[in-house]
Amino acid sequence: MKAEAAQLSIYNSLTGTKETFIPLNEGFVGFYVCGPTVYSNVHLGNCRTFISFDLVYRYLNHLGYKVRYVRNITDVGHLVDDADQGEDKIAKKARLEQLEPMEIVQQYTIDFHDVMNQFNAIAPDIEPTATGHIIEQIELIKAILDNGFAYESNGSIYFDVEKYNESHPYGELSGRKIEDLLTNTRELDGQNEKRAPLDFALWKNASDEHLMKWPSPWGIGFPGWHLECSAMSTKYLGKQFDIHGGGMDLKFPHHECEIAQGTAGCGIAPVRHWMHTNMLTLNGKKMSKSTGNSLLPAELFSGENDLLEKAYDPMVVRFFMMQAHYRSTLDFTSEALNASEKGYAKLIEAMDSLMSLTSSDSSSADVEGLVAKFYEAMNDDFNAPILVSHLFDAVKFINSTKDGKATISAADLSLLQTEMKVFVRDILGLAKSSESGESRLDPVMDLILDLRQEARANKDWSTSDKIRDGLAGAGIVVKDSKEGTSWN
Ligand code: AMP
Ligand code: ZN
Repeated sequence: MKAEAAQLSIYNSLTGTKETFIPLNEGFVGFYVCGPTVYSNVHLGNCRTFISFDLVYRYLNHLGYKVRYVRNITDVGHLVDDADQGEDKIAKKARLEQLEPMEIVQQYTIDFHDVMNQFNAIAPDIEPTATGHIIEQIELIKAILDNGFAYESNGSIYFDVEKYNESHPYGELSGRKIEDLLTNTRELDGQNEKRAPLDFALWKNASDEHLMKWPSPWGIGFPGWHLECSAMSTKYLGKQFDIHGGGMDLKFPHHECEIAQGTAGCGIAPVRHWMHTNMLTLNGKKMSKSTGNSLLPAELFSGENDLLEKAYDPMVVRFFMMQAHYRSTLDFTSEALNASEKGYAKLIEAMDSLMSLTSSDSSSADVEGLVAKFYEAMNDDFNAPILVSHLFDAVKFINSTKDGKATISAADLSLLQTEMKVFVRDILGLAKSSESGESRLDPVMDLILDLRQEARANKDWSTSDKIRDGLAGAGIVVKDSKEGTSWN
């Protein structure tokens, strides 16, 4: 463990305060993030949330924690109204496209993974699906029933919110009072299976034409959306675990219901630290698929959207996201993205310069103090924008040193080289987009250029031309100069 780990504080949405992070089991962190409902392409707003938690995961790892990171795929149970009414989002898409629900799930899971890869987000350690955990969900419902916090009605099982609220405060996470919730809840058609309007479905009875359904002790049906996260987090992280994340819009009812289900089924509040990310907005409004106010990552990477002047590198978009704290809203504009593009180029250029700086006897800046500030920023509830501002202090110093207006000692140079790499590459996750490909290509190119050199030395022009033309066909340009041969 790094000594800095002791200083990490995390804002807990449940208590509304920043708390020193002390995991349940020393050295280990159980971390659950609500994943996407895979019925459409993820938009940039969804990506903001997942990239924010990627930053959390990366920093916890860097501090030396052994993190078990679980992020689910919602492939059943999420209904069109985000509560108990309407068609399943995936089944609806399957009906419209005349496909199997699992074809929809497969298509959009692949898209999600592809987008996350482009953003250089690390895959979770476990990515469980709701349909793969029907048995666990049924078992959890049985426990909640046994403990007296749910009831059966017409082949469906509902959570008894008022009963639960007698012994546990329902609404504590979202700051809602049950009395207010009661007055604000309309009795909707088809809700008459419930004893009270606030009750929510754990299991729903399915009609014959329903596409995704399973047998249960209560008949053929399907699980409620909130239940899957409770069942899967309990299975992989235990009845209580360290950190649960999701977007702010999931606080109510989704996470409130998760707390109620976990507490009612397992006798303990499931989560110690709740983390919620704020929304990415477009035109000042929440980016959202259903309102059409959204932008797809693929549109950004290709520039094919009227809102955009051009295409952007995924790393520029990731850097743009890092310039706002995860608990603040972030508004998307092409001007802001253009500014990020310039800033990102400046940062990467300085990183390259740093690797070839020469040292002097002493430093004209406090490098150790600067590096300490990198940690301070991240330890203060993962404050990436403050970290970025300190990184730019380093950029300024690097550029001055390069221009001979400042000096750096050998020890400080090595420290800054190591820590800049750690914070920019490992923690902020800003790798050159082609970096992984390039580094694998490097030794191959060395070999090919060696062979070409040999051919030239032997005046075997046809082989050397063949190599150059073949590389050109693959988009690789070879240049010969006095300094030697380079490729691009
Ligand atoms: P969904 O697939 O709708 O369940 O959403 C996946 C994740 O994206 C959830 O954690 C949402 O809270 C989050 N999310 C949705 N819209 C936005 C947005 N505009 N900005 C940030 N996060 C969002
Ligand atoms: Zn969830």
